[in-house]
Amino acid sequence: MNFSNVVGQQGAKAGVLQMWSHNTLPHALLVTGAEGVGGLPFALAFAQYVFCENKTESDSCGKCAGCSKVARLEHADLHLSFPSISHKSNVKPMSRLHMQEFREFVRQSPYGTTYDWLQYINAENKQGNITAEECRDIIEHLYLKAYEGKKKVLIMWRPEYLGKEGNILLKVIEEPPQDTIIIFVAENKEDILATILSRTQEIRLSPISPGDIAEALVMRSLTDPKKASQIAHIAMGSYAEALKLLQHAENDLFPSVKQLFNVVFTNDGVGMSKFAEEWSKTGREQQKNLLHYIIQLMEHAIKARYMPGTAVNLPEAEAEFVTKLANTNVSFEGMGKIIDSLSDTMYFIERNAHGRTQLHALLLRIQYIVLRRKIDV
Ligand SMILES: [Zn+2]
Repeated sequence: MNFSNVVGQQGAKAGVLQMWSHNTLPHALLVTGAEGVGGLPFALAFAQYVFCENKTESDSCGKCAGCSKVARLEHADLHLSFPSISHKSNVKPMSRLHMQEFREFVRQSPYGTTYDWLQYINAENKQGNITAEECRDIIEHLYLKAYEGKKKVLIMWRPEYLGKEGNILLKVIEEPPQDTIIIFVAENKEDILATILSRTQEIRLSPISPGDIAEALVMRSLTDPKKASQIAHIAMGSYAEALKLLQHAENDLFPSVKQLFNVVFTNDGVGMSKFAEEWSKTGREQQKNLLHYIIQLMEHAIKARYMPGTAVNLPEAEAEFVTKLANTNVSFEGMGKIIDSLSDTMYFIERNAHGRTQLHALLLRIQYIVLRRKIDV
């Protein structure tokens, strides 16, 4: 991953390169940014820059042995740590037990979310974890001599998953072995141990501009410029979100969204039951995609109601739908409740709840809200 493959984030790139060239890099960096803005790709691009044998002022070469080893996540002096799980009760979760899967995951989806990752390793209902054993493993590795690079880099993705055992790392963060760079990549600063937070220097990633997202989608030949621009405007600054939306657009979930609101607004009980039945036959991922897509459209409808004209950035059919939704007599509070119900249903479906029951209950809840009946949701 070169810096040029990291979408947007010009400010953060310039910042870290300046620290590098001025030799003012702190022991430990904390890269922060919302899900999907590219924390992990940014950290990997910087690691590649560190190990590149042929770097320019602004980027790694992408061709030398150092670059290709980092790109494959196989550089001996690059240590990676991330939330993991264990399928056996007598084995503690450790990153290195999942390294092969992690390489494959990052190769396929460098902008993948932690949730995607945990699904990838079949975590199902298990929470990911960064354990005390993992911390000790990290310390052991960092004190080894650098193999090939002159430097060593540790990237810890999501230090929020460290419990109190994270304190094992304090000494190594404060006084790392010579030529060691520690990079934490986080989304929620408030969930990081205060002791770690105070020992790091923050680099903040911002939401990616629609222009940068659209350009990246077109450059990677994922879609045409028109669709790229439309998606970039709905993605709310997240490249991961843009990729998901692109998938939705390909699967064309829109007819189903229209059908859902149609059966709800026309009070069509049989239609609702049929809808739940049909959708329960699709996979869990597809159900989540649909719900997620509806949430996005609902949020746009709320926006469109208070800032008329904002829907114009959406694809034509969606814009029309959002405008209609914004002009219904469902109150602002009702819209919020519908969004809450949608996210609750996603939450339960993620956790393997029975699809048909969940979807049917959701439709009934939305119907009650639309008809403005009082219910306990
Ligand atoms: Zn290189």
